[in-house]
Amino acid sequence: MTTNINTQPNKPGVAGKDIWVYGDLRTSALFNNSLNVLAGAQKLAALTGGKTVFVITCRETPHNPEAIEEQIAIDQALKHGVDKILTLKPSTGGYLLPEQEAQVLAGVVQEKNPCVCLFPLHVIPREICSRAAAICHTGMIADCMDFKYDAGEIIAICPSHGGEVMAQLGFSNPTITGFITVQPNAFIRKEIKNAGGETETLTVTSLSPCDQITFVSCQKESRADKNLETARKIVVGGAGLGNIEGFTTLRKLSAALGAETGATRPPVMWHWIDEERLIGQTGKTVSPELLISLGTSGAVQYTAGITGAKTVVAVNKDPNAPIFQFADMGIVGDVNLFLPVFTEKIKQISLRSLADARDTEGASAQGGDFGSRLIRIRRAHGLTREVLAQSVGRTPEFIKELENNQTTASVGLLITLAEVFDIDAGTFLNDEEQSKLAGERAQAYTRRTANYHYQSLTPGAENEHLRVFMITIESRQMHKPVDYRHEGEEFVYVMEGQLGLTLDGKLYTLMPGEYMKYNSQTPHQLKSLSDEKTRCLVTLYTP
Ligand SMILES: Cc1cc2nc3c(=O)[nH]c(=O)nc-3n(C[C@H](O)[C@H](O)[C@H](O)COP(=O)(O)OP(=O)(O)OC[C@H]3O[C@@H](n4cnc5c(N)ncnc54)[C@H](O)[C@@H]3O)c2cc1C
Repeated sequence: MTTNINTQPNKPGVAGKDIWVYGDLRTSALFNNSLNVLAGAQKLAALTGGKTVFVITCRETPHNPEAIEEQIAIDQALKHGVDKILTLKPSTGGYLLPEQEAQVLAGVVQEKNPCVCLFPLHVIPREICSRAAAICHTGMIADCMDFKYDAGEIIAICPSHGGEVMAQLGFSNPTITGFITVQPNAFIRKEIKNAGGETETLTVTSLSPCDQITFVSCQKESRADKNLETARKIVVGGAGLGNIEGFTTLRKLSAALGAETGATRPPVMWHWIDEERLIGQTGKTVSPELLISLGTSGAVQYTAGITGAKTVVAVNKDPNAPIFQFADMGIVGDVNLFLPVFTEKIKQISLRSLADARDTEGASAQGGDFGSRLIRIRRAHGLTREVLAQSVGRTPEFIKELENNQTTASVGLLITLAEVFDIDAGTFLNDEEQSKLAGERAQAYTRRTANYHYQSLTPGAENEHLRVFMITIESRQMHKPVDYRHEGEEFVYVMEGQLGLTLDGKLYTLMPGEYMKYNSQTPHQLKSLSDEKTRCLVTLYTP
């Protein structure tokens, strides 16, 4: 499809004219997008015989420590082979609103009359681009992915009709500067050896004050647990999730996995999730170890943003969906059936790994200690320390101690945590035992836990009310107190050693053959009082 965006006849005349690129200095990632666009400008310049000009507007960026310094931006652009840097300095100084920046830029464009002005496709540059085009009474082409030069005319190649069609758009009056937004990853920046361009600084005096919008303050949105670009695990939801409820289920999977949530364009368009979560050509480019793509078709505009992902797992009900060409692992199925089952499994595994970290010595050296994992899971569930403390009936100070590995979580607390994190605690206990307390691995587990282990005598009863465990507690020298408190009733029978059972603060000493039944809600602790290990049979009844 080829279209001219106004009705004037073609006029040759762009050859040899400058091609401008807008430099976005707000963050290094956005600046890199500008350098990518510079690569596009260089391709175009090679076709038209023009020169590339990188335009920087000096504006104050209060409260933005991530902003690129002007000199660094200049050095970088020169390293990337730009022919000229044009620095615009408004005489008034201060922070520039997009409409003021557009005014500054449009004034200089009208004076210098470059062939085209290219802008990286992002919220602010897009606004500046469209405002500047309006001031210059000229056309603007959006979302360009490539360029052609045909019969003296620049043709911008842009996706249209949801990406089904690649439209070829041109400016029919080449004597006026055209404005184009370029997709940030359509071209890739490249440093050029021995590059050297010229620099020019212009002071702009014509800036009129903005009377419609007032700058109040500029504050960076908190990015705690919100960084898609550096995330190691990402779960992406697409239109196939069906509705916002489907997307909420997907968020639960992200929480259980400790992953970030991303989205294709439809969920963003339908406001199921923020725009900053968009992945793809017009969104973020990500490179996680694992990316799970649910209900996404695999449109090129989306997959362009996930080429850096190490392993891609896709779920789609259509076996012919293009995402399966891209994925390392594909599951043909309904996401609405897949998600709850998969999420439940992941939750179980994640609590088990939490329990494992509690007992594994040296885990903290690998960043896998109990405290760190608890912090990660708590944050993934969006809980503050205070809320978690309240949910498990402890103080925030106690949770802090757990998170700092200053105290050890009891099995009882793990069970309570399982409830808070919506994980089946019974399954957790039995899976641990079944998979780890058998054969050689059982011994390894016993060694790792060092002072305490349990073995299920009722395997497979994870969903039953009655479960029986053989508990072994090492001698008092090795022993950390184990504090239980959970729903139900409990019966303990001492087989070997000497058990100190503290019930509601009162200590009972039980010798082999002695037993006791109590309400599991009563705060209770089991402790080995003998010099040898203490073994006891514990029967748990949970309603
Ligand atoms: C200029 C331009 C830029 C763009 N930039 C981006 C971008 O950056 N990022 C982006 O994502 N898109 C972008 N797009 C849009 C892109 O072309 C696609 O339209 C979009 O990626 C499609 O999203 P989707 O896969 O979620 O939806 P769809 O294409 O509608 O696919 C939904 C998929 O879900 C499957 N499905 C349906 N129900 C179920 C179910 N119950 N269980 C399992 N599977 C199911 C269907 O089989 C289908 O394959 C851009 C488009 C243009 C024109």
